[in-house]
Amino acid sequence: MADDRIKEKLEILADAAKYDVSCSSSGSDRKNKKGGLGNTGAGICHTYTEDGRCVSLLKILLTNHCIFDCAYCVSRRSNDIKRAAFTVQEVVDLTINFYRRNYIEGLFLSSGIFKNADYTMERLVLIAKKLRQEHNFNGYIHLKTIPGASDDLLNEAGLYADRLSVNLEIPTETGLKLLAPEKNRKDMDVPMDYLKNQIIRTKEEKKIFRSTPKFAPAGQSTQMIIGASGESDMHIMKTADHYYTEYNLKRVYYSGYIPISNDKRLPGLGSDVPVIRENRLYQSDWLLRFYGFKRDEIVNERHPNLDLDIDPKLGWALRNLDQFPVDINRAPYESIVRVPGIGVTSAKKIVAARRFGALRMEHLQKIGISANKVRYFISCQGFVPLMSDRPAEMIKHYILAASHTKYKKVFNQQLTLF
Ligand code: SF4
Repeated sequence: MADDRIKEKLEILADAAKYDVSCSSSGSDRKNKKGGLGNTGAGICHTYTEDGRCVSLLKILLTNHCIFDCAYCVSRRSNDIKRAAFTVQEVVDLTINFYRRNYIEGLFLSSGIFKNADYTMERLVLIAKKLRQEHNFNGYIHLKTIPGASDDLLNEAGLYADRLSVNLEIPTETGLKLLAPEKNRKDMDVPMDYLKNQIIRTKEEKKIFRSTPKFAPAGQSTQMIIGASGESDMHIMKTADHYYTEYNLKRVYYSGYIPISNDKRLPGLGSDVPVIRENRLYQSDWLLRFYGFKRDEIVNERHPNLDLDIDPKLGWALRNLDQFPVDINRAPYESIVRVPGIGVTSAKKIVAARRFGALRMEHLQKIGISANKVRYFISCQGFVPLMSDRPAEMIKHYILAASHTKYKKVFNQQLTLF
């Protein structure tokens, strides 16, 4: 009977947690100790359900009761749904049992807010503390931080969790006011700022005192819901860029809004989840963090939204054809990595390989670079770029026609426009 109730709670609270996509992890190096349980190793491997959600962690809410009424959230207090709440011990036991059976590599724990922020956060912290101290659990723990919780609780959370996150939820203050008028952005900025400073301080202290305990070693992250309010991609990327820069975030997650209500402020039930847009935002995010792009090169006042047909690097290249062709044998790494079809690893390989002789197209193909995109943007030994004098739209057309993108259906419908 008790097992049935736990099973029911698990169904309710795992289902409610699926709307939060910020569950992948990276960068934790928590090691197993003698007699301990689990070892995160070099990053957690991720698996995804059919709808693209990560399931490698036990991903649940402590409760889906909530005192708030955010229009975009399935747990909002006005929603007529089945409610449930785990006890602290139930979450601890579930985590340990699933871990021992190899079902999971860690725990991703979020929660609706019952009573108040501290009351909820206290319980989240207690779960992490019990796992670490009573069970010597060294698996990965990602805790959601409840805005408004005290600094003491945030501090304790950082001692037990690998990663902490505060969800921004809606990319702009205006959108937040519209959909969650009880909240404000400052309530999210304050804990993020506290966590940023604690992470920096701990790292500095650790250089002097090796015994300094780790504090959220996998850093902090956030999540934004895409497509619930009317923000452009420029607004979204501006917010992401701001939080990466000002709060040293490890990751910003973009979660396409899944229609859950008939609230007039939101896209109606049956509207498409903006999956392609979500994917393009992740690609843009990657360009900001690893490719040396500035936010306004990707989206700006003239181009406030990403082209869904093509990846954002190709979009940038087609708007800046004057910067091509890039001479693969002479150009600096920074220019090579901006060529559509060349990733960070391939760009490094090119720079290393060309020391031994001039590279030809066949060398690039051996490195693993597909000619489909690059042939319009590079020159190399024995090769001049194709159609360098043609308009961007034509190049885009040819690239898409030759590509095997999963978005081809979308493209094919649009080809008639040419
Ligand atoms: S506070 Fe969090 S759980 Fe509660 S309604 Fe808002 S988004 Fe949902």
